[in-house]
Amino acid sequence: MRWQGQRESDNVEDVRGESGGGGFGGLPIGGRGLSLGGVVVALVAGWIFGINPLALLGLMDGGGTSAPPQREVAPSHPTDERARFASVVLADTEDVWGAIMGRANRPYEPPRMVLFRGVTRTACGTGESAAGPFYCPADRKVYIDLSFFDTLSQRLGAPGDFAQAYVIAHEVGHHVQTVLGLTQRVDAQRQRLGQAQANALSVRLELQADCFAGVWAHHSQRGKGWLEAGDIEEALNAASQIGDDTLQRRSRGTVVPESFTHGSSAQRVQWFKRGLQSGAPAQCNTFETAGS
Ligand SMILES: [Zn+2]
Repeated sequence: MRWQGQRESDNVEDVRGESGGGGFGGLPIGGRGLSLGGVVVALVAGWIFGINPLALLGLMDGGGTSAPPQREVAPSHPTDERARFASVVLADTEDVWGAIMGRANRPYEPPRMVLFRGVTRTACGTGESAAGPFYCPADRKVYIDLSFFDTLSQRLGAPGDFAQAYVIAHEVGHHVQTVLGLTQRVDAQRQRLGQAQANALSVRLELQADCFAGVWAHHSQRGKGWLEAGDIEEALNAASQIGDDTLQRRSRGTVVPESFTHGSSAQRVQWFKRGLQSGAPAQCNTFETAGS
């Protein structure tokens, strides 16, 4: 990906200099936002059941008083290469989604991206880097500990800059879902369902974020022509390596489809491709698809 010299985002909050999330350590873990997958947790601690990545969305509906107080962090332009790369990708998602929403006469307020180390406070509770990158709908921020990209490359078998871009675009996909009100609707539905059905809905939401990442890749390449040979394969490989079946097989040797929350490797690849080939968000209706 030829990203050097491209515009960097004005929406990056760099809190990597704060240890322990600004003295927030020690408080109960509130949970997570919408993650990329339970990837690191799955590898390090064994698969964790019962984590409801959407549980905290209730905070959005007037219950926000229980969220920890938010710090005011001014956006900045980090100078290290890895952060600059993430910032360039975020900036391009702003361009692409701004244009797509604009054509639909919808405003697009882009998300902030918080770069942190270890743990950080979020409106969704304590964010931990061990859970992988995630999006918190309650504060509309993407949270990334950039060391995840080492894990992605070295432990999850998904190297390459475009694999990283896919991860960022997936999280921005969750932001788009929130802007469109889809996240909120799914969360309301999930609360009326049993665990297996709630998981199935979660999978639909995650696959849609993958499809939206593909939509971004489509328009990004059209606009900038910056992809290089092998880039698309890097993203497809990443989508495959963080499928629930692949992660479960790797962490404990067996696969329990009812516990999937992000979709199988084949599903994640399929939906990313669908967005990539069509460039059309309307093709990303993962909720009205039977089977896969
Ligand atoms: Zn996700």
